[in-house]
Amino acid sequence: MSQSPQSGSSSTVASGDRSRQGHKTARNQEFLAFFLSTRSDRATLSWTVLTQIGLAGLGVGALCYLALSFVSEGAASCAGVVSGAIAFAFFLRRARRSAARANATTALAKALLDANRECLKLLDADGRMVRISEYGAELMEASAPEQLAGSNWLGFWSGEDATAAHDAFHAAMSGARATFRGSCPTTSGAPKTWHSRLIPIENGDGGVEGVICASQDMTQQAELAAALCARETLMSEMEAHVGLCFYSYNADFTGFHHISAGCAAVFGLDAQTFRESPQAWMALVLQEDLPQLTAAMRRIAESKVSQKALYRIRRLDGNVRWIQSTGSPVLDSAGNVARIVGISEDVTAEQDRLAELDRLAFTDSLTGLANRAALMCRIDERCRKQAPFALMFIDLDRFKVLNDTLGHTAADRLLKSLSRVIRAALPADAFLARLGGDEFAVLIDGAKHKDPLAEIARATLDALVQADQAHRAGTITASIGISVFPENGGNRETLLTSADIAMYAAKKAGRNGYRFADKDSSERIVDFELERDLPAALAKKEFQLHYQAIHEPHTREVRSVEALIRWRHPERGLVSPGVFIPILEESGFIAEVGAWVMDDALRQLALWRQAGARALGVSVNVSARQLRDATIVDVVDEALRRHALPASTLQLELTESALMDDPSLAQRTLGALKKLGVRIAIDDFGTGYSSLRYLADFAPDCVKIDRSFITRMESDQATRSIVCGIIQMCHTLGLSVTAEGVEETAQLELLRHAQCDFVQGFLLSRPVAPDDVLGLPIATPSALID
Ligand code: C2E
Ligand code: CA
Ligand code: CA
Repeated sequence: MSQSPQSGSSSTVASGDRSRQGHKTARNQEFLAFFLSTRSDRATLSWTVLTQIGLAGLGVGALCYLALSFVSEGAASCAGVVSGAIAFAFFLRRARRSAARANATTALAKALLDANRECLKLLDADGRMVRISEYGAELMEASAPEQLAGSNWLGFWSGEDATAAHDAFHAAMSGARATFRGSCPTTSGAPKTWHSRLIPIENGDGGVEGVICASQDMTQQAELAAALCARETLMSEMEAHVGLCFYSYNADFTGFHHISAGCAAVFGLDAQTFRESPQAWMALVLQEDLPQLTAAMRRIAESKVSQKALYRIRRLDGNVRWIQSTGSPVLDSAGNVARIVGISEDVTAEQDRLAELDRLAFTDSLTGLANRAALMCRIDERCRKQAPFALMFIDLDRFKVLNDTLGHTAADRLLKSLSRVIRAALPADAFLARLGGDEFAVLIDGAKHKDPLAEIARATLDALVQADQAHRAGTITASIGISVFPENGGNRETLLTSADIAMYAAKKAGRNGYRFADKDSSERIVDFELERDLPAALAKKEFQLHYQAIHEPHTREVRSVEALIRWRHPERGLVSPGVFIPILEESGFIAEVGAWVMDDALRQLALWRQAGARALGVSVNVSARQLRDATIVDVVDEALRRHALPASTLQLELTESALMDDPSLAQRTLGALKKLGVRIAIDDFGTGYSSLRYLADFAPDCVKIDRSFITRMESDQATRSIVCGIIQMCHTLGLSVTAEGVEETAQLELLRHAQCDFVQGFLLSRPVAPDDVLGLPIATPSALID
């Protein structure tokens, strides 16, 4: 038989307070007397009883008659009748009373038994069940009370319960009331838990003749209590094992209603400590974390909102831990904070992981030095502080060659050891970072003067040379560029660029040296910034084409327009192609941008021609780098097809230097372009080789005389002769001539005289936006000569 913790056998004997017991008994008798008196004359008597009473009255009457008949016959008769009648009335009343009393007693007993929800048993002196109540039999799952009558009540119990049952019974038999709790099976064998009261039945001589036992069925209650207890055990086991601390605080954080066993794992304090001194845990919180924690607690209590707080505690054993606590207010029906519940958790491991991730994010994995991201943060920090510092760029010379010859693994090993050499050569408080590849950067605080910086740079270079001798690599040197805040830049970008430019200057000056950033390099920063912005400019649609008209000198009619690229820089405004075309060429982006120019110029030409300017052609500039790329032929061909234009409407302008870069390649490419039917012009003629014989090999269609000749023409007879000579020779070779940069009427006059075919310059028109082209005096188709 299983026993719940609360159903354990127990017996209690009510000994002591007899007077209280007596008082209770008196009260109960009073209750009985009242009940019985209210029902004392409601009895009806049976005929047998009535006959008996009649006979008793008759007997009394007869006795009286006999006693007086010796005196007087008449008086005797009279007395006999009267006394008989009185006796009859007396007996009748008594019989009625006792019958009413018996009836009332039975009714009361019946009602009490009906009302009783216990298993009531009458036990004899040996503990046998003499009688059992109807409901009691039902509780014992017996078919009828008779089934249990005569069985031994003491035999129902076993183990500790049996002992307790015996003790309680013997106590009752010795005149004391007793209680007892234990489990015994019903007739079906199902165990039930009972709470029994044993009341002695006294026999009037001070002895006890039996016991009334009233047992309450506690099974359901016991099961419920056991279930609750099991749940509580489970909860506290779980709470203790999850390593979380669940709590319920009162509304002003002055005491705990509940704190789970996990508090020991989280705070290193046991639950009792929390209950006894509710502020003890706060004494562990690190001073610097306390304000934000108490602020969060205040917000929960005052603003009635849930809060989360992350803070550190120093446990009593000295161990510092990260704790995350959440707290939520529980409101009562009036909307006031009734209590605050939440969880606290030790998140040290997670915080350590985050810190490690942070460390990794700012560390160069190969050398263990700070990485680029870390350097950027440090520079920004220093710029904010406005305290002078120097930035040194260290680039290993020819390391790429070493990388290729040594192989990556050996090169990585070398880089690692060189990083140690550099570190050792620097002042202890210098900040060293590896930017990737063979680039390092150093921050030196408080650097106001160049001499100490130069010393550091020299020492670093020397250390590398020495290490090189030790490695016998024979090639390890470095170039160093140094920029100083705020002299060479007030922000990260300019400082980095200045140092970078200075470093390149050091390389150019023969490597294994250092250079300070200077004014020149500050100006070149502009180039660097443009270079940075150029790759995105095309996608951002920052380029646009303007068009400058090429006129017939006599009629001033426009035969074609030259496409001139413009860059609308979001910060710098309009940037001249003279600035960014060389950058595009260097970076190789010219191919992409050139293809866009080609497409946009032809698209625009097609639109103008559709709008009526059917004799109009377009000139597009092609740079040296574009010409070296054989795809130019496809680019041109596709653009012409895309916009359904005859090839003859397009003229490509190439400088002499572009052609002489790689003359045989240029010749092949030009040959292919000419095959398409495209016209070729030599741009800026006179500034380069100026060898017409050479140029004849490229078989151009047109020569554009450079502006510098036209400018000097008026004032300089020799230049005038050269211009006239060029025009004549070109005509002999069958080429047309365009004069560039015509700014004066006198120049125009001279050019007309010299039979120049076309003129271009601010005198006649400046470069204009595409929409303004149709406003120019465009030649009609019949005016076209070539
Ligand atoms: P360029 O091909 O010699 O173009 C003529 C340049 O001279 C244009 O300058 C034009 O505005 C300017 N100009 C025209 N008439 C006069 C005048 O009477 N007086 C003065 N002082 N200048 C005049 P821009 O537009 O700045 O172009 C400069 C150079 O950039 C061009 O020289 C050309 O080499 C290059 N360029 C322009 N657009 C492109 C392009 O789409 N692709 C390539 N590869 N280069 C281009
Ligand atoms: Ca040009
Ligand atoms: Ca030109």
